[in-house]
Amino acid sequence: MLSLLAMVAASHPAYAWGHHYLVSHRALEHEGITWADTPVVVESVDSLLAADSAALSEAIDAHYAWLLARGSDRFHRQVLPREGATRADLIRACRLHPGVHLPLVLRVLPGGERHGFPVAPEAASPYLHAVGPLLADVEVTREGSMVPAGAVFATFTDEPDWGFDHELWGYTEYGYGPQPFGKPRGESSKAPFHMQFDHENLLTRALTDLDEAMVPERIDLFLRLSEAAFSTDHDYWGLRFAAWAAHYAEDLAQPYHSRAVPSARLPWYLHYMVSGDKETIEAETTQLSANRHFLYEDFVAYGLQQSYVEDTAAVATLASFLRTGPATLNYRGSPLGPDATAQQIVDALTGPAARHAPIIDETLRTSFPPSMTEDPQFDYEQAQVDIRQVLAQVSPTAQEALLAETGKDFAQAGAAARTVLVVVGAEARLAD
Ligand SMILES: [Zn+2]
Repeated sequence: MLSLLAMVAASHPAYAWGHHYLVSHRALEHEGITWADTPVVVESVDSLLAADSAALSEAIDAHYAWLLARGSDRFHRQVLPREGATRADLIRACRLHPGVHLPLVLRVLPGGERHGFPVAPEAASPYLHAVGPLLADVEVTREGSMVPAGAVFATFTDEPDWGFDHELWGYTEYGYGPQPFGKPRGESSKAPFHMQFDHENLLTRALTDLDEAMVPERIDLFLRLSEAAFSTDHDYWGLRFAAWAAHYAEDLAQPYHSRAVPSARLPWYLHYMVSGDKETIEAETTQLSANRHFLYEDFVAYGLQQSYVEDTAAVATLASFLRTGPATLNYRGSPLGPDATAQQIVDALTGPAARHAPIIDETLRTSFPPSMTEDPQFDYEQAQVDIRQVLAQVSPTAQEALLAETGKDFAQAGAAARTVLVVVGAEARLAD
């Protein structure tokens, strides 16, 4: 059991939504958001720190006090100098990968207007590139120029996938401790910051470290930094930090990020426990689960991308799930408001996502060709599948079922982004 879950978690694609910026852009189209077009001034992290290190320093202190109070043993406390802090100081204080440079870029919407100068996606991150039909259109913006608030928020909800959470396990001075799941290098090295398996059954929790993920920690830190930036009139950074917090929240709306083996129910576990060939079962379950996860992501990312350039009912419906629905997440029967904590945001997401995981898994299995969802010899990633051709084989009835189920996850993802924005007070700062 231990090795099975460790393997599954290690081999899962660590992306949740291939295009976070589009998920977030659509979430801002909700009727409750009035400030997406408000212009904000582009500001480098060096200028931010030169102007107002003190507020950020206090936010960092408050975050470590919170970690201590909640009994976390996965940190070594860091500080940010109150004056003269550098970019390296901020990255260390946040315990992010020292190699990142926090560039002044924006992602361009499919067919959308430009605010800066086109550059290769590598200008944003070595991890960002166009894959098949999935675009990666990036532009660079000049410090001091004005750009829409919504573009800043949408763009930087991608940033936690750009490298600052990758391969952190060798930086022992950060105190993250032993890696609970995922591989030490490559894409899945960031998994414990982007997946939160709080709803596995008692047995798997007892036998694994799957419940040692750190998503609430990331959300808490970036909520605090966003509030500090807004409170000192640095709207660009208020939005950018809020976008980072929103990334993790959106991730947890993805059922494969909240449930390690969605297809595994009690009969499966019983079969596994008495089987003489556990290795084969492990490998096959892992492969099937990864294939479905990839299919789901690509279907969603491509459909969302097409919703900007194509005029069909299916993609319009997909986009509408993000812009309609409740303004904020529901937590124990009530909508979350400005006082919501990182832990409440996480809890409001992982419960519904984990419950939805077996349903979406089954819907994917029945919607897509069995050669892709039921054949453990098939490796989606290796096969370099073009999602356009796969979708052409899906029947209208199956597409409809898939859309309806996706809508449930998207309603949560949209509300997740908006909840973060309510907590950091974006409306009060940006609406006029
Ligand atoms: Zn992520």
